[in-house]
Amino acid sequence: MSCENHPNVEAIANCSDCDTPMCGLCANYIEEGVYCESCVSNRETEQIVAEKLQRQNKGAIQKQVTELGAENAEAARKGGQNSQLIQVLIIVACLLFLTVRLFLNSGSPDEQANSELPVAEFALVSLVQCMLIFEEIGEILQSNNTPDPALRCDQTAPPNIITRNGDDIKISHPDPGVYGVEELSVSKSNPVPTLIY
Ligand SMILES: [Zn+2]
Ligand SMILES: [Zn+2]
Repeated sequence: MSCENHPNVEAIANCSDCDTPMCGLCANYIEEGVYCESCVSNRETEQIVAEKLQRQNKGAIQKQVTELGAENAEAARKGGQNSQLIQVLIIVACLLFLTVRLFLNSGSPDEQANSELPVAEFALVSLVQCMLIFEEIGEILQSNNTPDPALRCDQTAPPNIITRNGDDIKISHPDPGVYGVEELSVSKSNPVPTLIY
């Protein structure tokens, strides 16, 4: 059999696509097989288009993933992260204040005895301790359990006030006035102790 393009030359192969007989000059050897001129150029075009599509899809998916990630981060930021940080800062500030006070007073026992500071310090220590207990209550609420009524700041005071609002449960200190605050509470939806002055 002779080459389709060169009738005087013997064919050495047939095109893998269209079966056209080809001589050595007309045959195109590529990875997938041997092709005639028109089939090889068709293939190249297809490949370029396929690669281009793949690149575009990849880009689109990547863009979606990036956007989703940004949305989640934004939602997490909005979801109570700020109030949590503020509460932690209050506790840290209280402890820092106490540490400095105790350090300053430790060297002068006479002065400490005459000063009214220990009373204020005692109240502050009580408040921080009480907030830690409420934090524990908040964790119990969030794990869908009911906190033990014995879990409260002052055993001699009346029990904590439990308020239910649909699915939400709020536990409030019965007498927050002893700490000089209007409200000390924690709820299932906001497990971080909330102080209202
Ligand atoms: Zn062909
Ligand atoms: Zn030929």
